[in-house]
Amino acid sequence: MKTKHGVEQLLSDKTHELERVYAELARYKEMLQNTEDQVKEAVQELKTLEDELKKLSNFDPLTNLPNRVQFETDLKREIARAKRYERKLAVLYLDVDFFKKINDNYGHHFGDLLLQRFSARLLKLLRTEDTAARLSGDEFAVILTEIDSAHDAGIVAHRIVEKMCEPFQIEERTLIVGVSIGLACYPEAGEDPEILNKHADIALHSAKTLGRGNYQFFTRNLQVQHNHRLEIEAELHFALERKEFFLVYQPRIDLQTGEMVGMEVLLRWQHPKRGLISPAEFIPIAEETGLIVPIGTWVLNTACRQFAAWREINNLNCSLAVNVSPRQFQHRNFTDIVIRILKETKIPPSVLELEITETAIVGFLGQIEDVLFQLRHLGVQFSIDDFGTGYSSLSRLKELPIQSIKIDRSFVNDIDVKINDNVIIKSTIDLAKDMGLNVVAEGVETELQLQFLMNNECPQAQGYYYSKPLTPEQMEKFIEAKKK
Ligand code: C2E
Ligand code: MG
Ligand code: MG
Repeated sequence: MKTKHGVEQLLSDKTHELERVYAELARYKEMLQNTEDQVKEAVQELKTLEDELKKLSNFDPLTNLPNRVQFETDLKREIARAKRYERKLAVLYLDVDFFKKINDNYGHHFGDLLLQRFSARLLKLLRTEDTAARLSGDEFAVILTEIDSAHDAGIVAHRIVEKMCEPFQIEERTLIVGVSIGLACYPEAGEDPEILNKHADIALHSAKTLGRGNYQFFTRNLQVQHNHRLEIEAELHFALERKEFFLVYQPRIDLQTGEMVGMEVLLRWQHPKRGLISPAEFIPIAEETGLIVPIGTWVLNTACRQFAAWREINNLNCSLAVNVSPRQFQHRNFTDIVIRILKETKIPPSVLELEITETAIVGFLGQIEDVLFQLRHLGVQFSIDDFGTGYSSLSRLKELPIQSIKIDRSFVNDIDVKINDNVIIKSTIDLAKDMGLNVVAEGVETELQLQFLMNNECPQAQGYYYSKPLTPEQMEKFIEAKKK
C-alpha cells in the first residue's frame, strides 16, 4: 500500500514528466514552425526562380525586350483582338544597318551597348500600347496596334528610320548605324501571324537591297520578285555542275600607247530556259547564299588556265583581272586556292589582279584586310572596282595594299553631259596619281569621253569604245589583230 508521501512523490514525478513532455512538444512545435517557414521560403524562392526562368525564356536579357517566343504570343493575341474589333495593325521588321561593322571594328562590347541603346531609342519612338521585341542578333520587330491605315504605320517607320540615323554616343565613341524596315499590315498583307512575319521579312529584305536606311511595305509585286529570286537561287545551285557558266574577257587599254595592258574576266550564265542572265542579277544572290565561293573558284581557275594558254602561245604581256567578292576573301582557304592555281598555271602572282568593289572594301574591311596583305605579300595586285560609288576616303585606302582604282562607269558616262565641270574624275585622277596609284576609267564608250580622259592624263581605260567583253575565240582574234 502506498503512503501519502509515496502518492505525492508519484504525482510530482508525473507532473515533471508531463512538463518534460510539454517542453518537448513545444520544441517540436517550434521546429515544425521553423520547417514550415523554411518550406514557405523555399516555395517562394522556387516561384521567383520560375519567374526568372520564364522571363529568360520569353525576354531578351541584353535589352529586356520580349524575345521571338514572346513576340509570337503577343502577335497572336493582337491579331485576335484586331479581328474582334475589326481594326488594323502593322508588323515591322527592323534590321540595324552595318551592325556587323560595329562588332568587327569595335568589338562585341560596343556591339552589345549599341543594341541596348538602339532598343531604348526605339521604345521612345513608340506608344506604350505598341510592342517592340528583339528577334535575334540585330533584328528587331514591332507591332503597331490600333492604326487607322497603312499610312499611319508608314509615318512611324519613317520616324524610326530618321531617328536611327542620328549618332549613338557610346563611351568615348560616336557610332553611326541606321535601320532598314519591312512592313506588313493586317489584314491586307496576311491574316495570321506566320504570314505577316514572312511578309514583313520579305519587305525588310527589299529595304536592305534598296540601299538600307529606308522602309518598304510588303506588296504582291514584292512577292512575285521574291518568288523569282527563290527560283533563280534554286537554279544557281546546279548551274556549275550543269556547266551553264562561261567567261568573257574585256581588254584594258593603255591610253598613251593604245596597247592592251590587261584583260578583265567577266562571268556569264547561259540559262537553258531563261537565256543569258546578267551577273548584276545573279552575283548578289550567289553572294548571299555563299554559292559565290565555289563559283568564284571556278572563275579563277578557268580564267587562269585560259590566260596561261594565251600567254604561252602569244607571248602576252598583260595582266589578268578577276572580280572577287568579300565572301571569297572571308573563306579560310582563299589564299591557298590562289597560290595553288598560280602554281599550277605558272602565272606569276604580279600578273594577277584581284578586283574588289569599293562597297565591299568599305563594308568588310576588318574581315578581309589580313587576306589582302597576305596575297599582296606574294605579289598579287589589287584594284578597287566601281570607285566613287562607295564613299570611301582615299586617305583611308592609302593604308591598304592597293595598286589601282577603277573609276565607275557612271562617272565616265557623266562626261558627255558635264564636259566642262567634271571635277570628280579630274580630281580622282590627280589624287590617285599623287598616291602612286594606277587609274582605269571603266565603261568608256565615246570619243568625247576618251578625249576628256586623255586630256586629264588618265593612264588606262576599258569600255565598248575599244571592245565589248569577248568570248575566248573573239579574244584570240583581238590578240592577233593587235599583233599586226
Ligand atoms: P564590273 O567588274 O565593274 O565590270 C564591268 C561591267 O561593265 C561589266 O558588266 C561589263 O560588261 C560592263 N561594261 C564594260 N564596258 C562597258 C561600256 O562601255 N558600256 C557599258 N554600258 N557597260 C560596259 P557585266 O559583265 O554585266 O558585270 C557586272 C558586274 O558583275 C561586274 O562589274 C562585277 O562587279 C560583277 N561580276 C562579273 N563577273 C564576276 C565574277 O566572276 N565574280 C564576281 N564576284 N563578280 C563578277
Ligand atoms: Mg570589275
Ligand atoms: Mg566596275
